[in-house]
Amino acid sequence: MKYNPADKIQDLQYFREFGGVNPSISDSSTYTFLSAKTMFDTFEGNAEGCYLYSRHSSPSNLYLGEALAAMEATEAATVTASGMGAITPVILQLCDAGDHIVSSRTIYGGTYAFMKNFLPKLNINTSFVNITKLEEVESAITSNTKILYCESVSNPLLEIANIPALAELVKKYNLKLVVDNTFSPLSITPSILGADIVIHSLTKFINGSSDTVGGVICGPSDFINELRNVNDGACMLLGSTMDSFRSASILKNLRTLHIRMQKHSGNAMYLAEKFQALGLKTVYPGLNSHHGNELFTSMMNDEYGFGGMLTIDVGSLEKANSLMELMQEENLGYLAVSLGFYKTLFSAPGTSTSSEIPEEEQLEMGLSDGLIRFSIGLDNHIDRTFKQMKKCMEQIGVLEKVTL
Ligand SMILES: *Cc1c(COP(=O)(O)O)cnc(C)c1O
Repeated sequence: MKYNPADKIQDLQYFREFGGVNPSISDSSTYTFLSAKTMFDTFEGNAEGCYLYSRHSSPSNLYLGEALAAMEATEAATVTASGMGAITPVILQLCDAGDHIVSSRTIYGGTYAFMKNFLPKLNINTSFVNITKLEEVESAITSNTKILYCESVSNPLLEIANIPALAELVKKYNLKLVVDNTFSPLSITPSILGADIVIHSLTKFINGSSDTVGGVICGPSDFINELRNVNDGACMLLGSTMDSFRSASILKNLRTLHIRMQKHSGNAMYLAEKFQALGLKTVYPGLNSHHGNELFTSMMNDEYGFGGMLTIDVGSLEKANSLMELMQEENLGYLAVSLGFYKTLFSAPGTSTSSEIPEEEQLEMGLSDGLIRFSIGLDNHIDRTFKQMKKCMEQIGVLEKVTL
């Protein structure tokens, strides 16, 4: 039987006599020791189950980390204050000055900006490649390459990374495959497909209520412990620590992730099929017309679908903006960045979340002006939503060509 991430989360319980049904929130930055010797041992990293200081770890953060490690089928996980607070320490832990990264060019704008503008200050350079072209990926690898970086489903173009094939390359050249799985929680389990380290922005689907930022790094225990090492751990020393109240609330939201993902995916599939039938240029990994459809199908855990993200191209930025404003007026969603909310969110990536990417590079990767990125919400009757969206499209003139 295939790995079922939601079952693994469900199987975890923190249950005991007089315990709360949710684990207690640890409301402390520092912890007592009964003996000075234990404190010393803990600093040396040798006291299992002892807490030192909450930037290092806290009970609440460990509970959430344990649940996310179960979800991602990794030995361990550590939570961070944001998705970027997970991505940056992983890179800085794995790379020294002079090292090199091969990364997909269609990645989250913040990650792209970090690699392109920030890492060169440390003499860490990145080659950006078309991740769907394996020969291009392989030929970018040099003797200094340490990391192969991608997103399972890329932002915003929804390209699918062939994780098993990339894992082969990583083995051949002795690199680490780091996968950002933010767009496809539960649907894809990268570690089972050969990824070494899996990252999420918890801000998105996993928390799902757009009330916090958060991140997680899932991987082997050795690596997670290295990140938390008091002497040279990037998580410990860069200090992007999640607060205990937040990790407790994200853990509660994680309990409904499987139900939400099924609804996000079902609604997105319905709209993608309808949009495509109207003649709109629609990109959704669940459509047969998507070039990564077969690949996604071969990698996915059944039940959770192809995710909640889709894009349409309405031809121009003006039309995209008018359509988004009208859909918001009609209460069909919000003109906002981010994703994974109960309500549909839409934005034009070229002028928002991917604006860090220079215009000519945007064009080269197929990120056109008229592109609208949708994070489809949990609408109860998606057919009703579709009818209202279609009306908006007719009003803006997006469907003119089709209805003629
Ligand atoms: C949002 C996002 C991030 C960054 O996460 P934050 O929580 O905003 O720091 C990274 N990767 C992807 C794919 C994202 O969508």
